[in-house]
Amino acid sequence: MTERFIQCAQALLPEGWSADVCLHLDAAGMIRSVSRGTPQNASEVLDGPVIPGMPNLHSHGFQRLMAGLTRPVRPGGDDFWGWRQAMYRLAERITPEQLEHCLAHVYVAMLKGGYTSCAEFHYLHNGPGGKPYRDPAEMSLRVLAAADAARMPLTLLPVLYRAGGFGQALQAPQQRFALTLEQYLALVDTCRRHTGGQALAAVGVAPHSLRAVPRDELQRLLSALAGVSLPIHIHVAEQQAEVQDCLAHYGARPLEWLLQNFEINRNWCLVHATHMTSIEVRTAAATGAIAGLCPTTEADLGDGCFEARDWLDAGGWLGIGSDSNLRISACEELRLLEFTERLRRQRRHVLDDVGTSLYLHAARSGAAALGQAVGQLAPGCRADLVELDASHPLIAGQTGDEALETYVFAGGSDMIRSVHVAGECVVERGRNEQEALFEGRFRRIRQELNA
Ligand SMILES: [Zn+2]
Repeated sequence: MTERFIQCAQALLPEGWSADVCLHLDAAGMIRSVSRGTPQNASEVLDGPVIPGMPNLHSHGFQRLMAGLTRPVRPGGDDFWGWRQAMYRLAERITPEQLEHCLAHVYVAMLKGGYTSCAEFHYLHNGPGGKPYRDPAEMSLRVLAAADAARMPLTLLPVLYRAGGFGQALQAPQQRFALTLEQYLALVDTCRRHTGGQALAAVGVAPHSLRAVPRDELQRLLSALAGVSLPIHIHVAEQQAEVQDCLAHYGARPLEWLLQNFEINRNWCLVHATHMTSIEVRTAAATGAIAGLCPTTEADLGDGCFEARDWLDAGGWLGIGSDSNLRISACEELRLLEFTERLRRQRRHVLDDVGTSLYLHAARSGAAALGQAVGQLAPGCRADLVELDASHPLIAGQTGDEALETYVFAGGSDMIRSVHVAGECVVERGRNEQEALFEGRFRRIRQELNA
């Protein structure tokens, strides 16, 4: 494919909204330049408001198979740990083929939901019972194949999972996640080689959490990566019980301990970071690490509330993810993030007056967390874009901030008209050409696994 031009009636650029924007793309779908005016030879004309696609910085795609099906397993009240048992029952059963087909469907749903890249936090490495596959990269390659089939730009995050809790042996269901550090580093290496020449795939690392990766193993992992700049994602301080266990084991809270013992920087994505003291907020924000927030999943699991206003005031960066994929909608995650602050403070517009700066902030943060050149309609970034539907009854007649505000606070996938990845249209008039095929497979697998 040669260079081309996409003409946008209005587009959200890093400096704000602009009318009559022409995106000049190179053959790889990267934005070469942004100009005003109408070219003679535009290959595409987008009439609706165009915004950068949102990177999804935290996903466990297979968990979509249990969305809405997690009844309480404990008498007297359910919590995260009860939900986790249900998730383990699903994780124990899924086959490589089921995983690939499930993820292809989930990634198409993400594209339709306004996400144009995804970080997959992937820990299903072994077969049922922990029996290794003949190819140790079997499941990781299935994840990459699904993303490729769906044309979803993916940052694959193979997960290191070594312990069943602070100072505890792995539990039986966790054997499926377990690799030695040496096996893990070999897997990361294989994935990096596999994705080496691919424009739409990248690899990072993910020590699962402080409870699942003991101190010495985390040290050895980071030492092995010294001199290599890869995204590093970790679940941290999601649950109060985790905070208490960390205090008992290390004598410090999770973020406090992490900040004291490791050099945290912009490469790190602190997933959830729900339970922080004000000192932890200030110290962690100052490192440049991205807070990886997944408000709908955190709400579903009763995790707690992230201190978003305080984090932003401290100069912190935050992005959003669909996590358990209970809901797959970029605008819903941003909305719940803002609404949580409204409920807490009994005020409106706590994080942003109209949604524009919050949207741009989350898109740029997500891009950094994924280690991909995306998140802005600017030269040097990939042309990943979302066109809002100018004919939607709530958007018709609106421009710029008004339209984005409506999308963030009142919208859903039904307000998205088209989605482009690297300049290629992957959702047109709200539809993806492969969605019926992928949805049919997913429907069957969900029924099989939940029978
Ligand atoms: Zn997670």
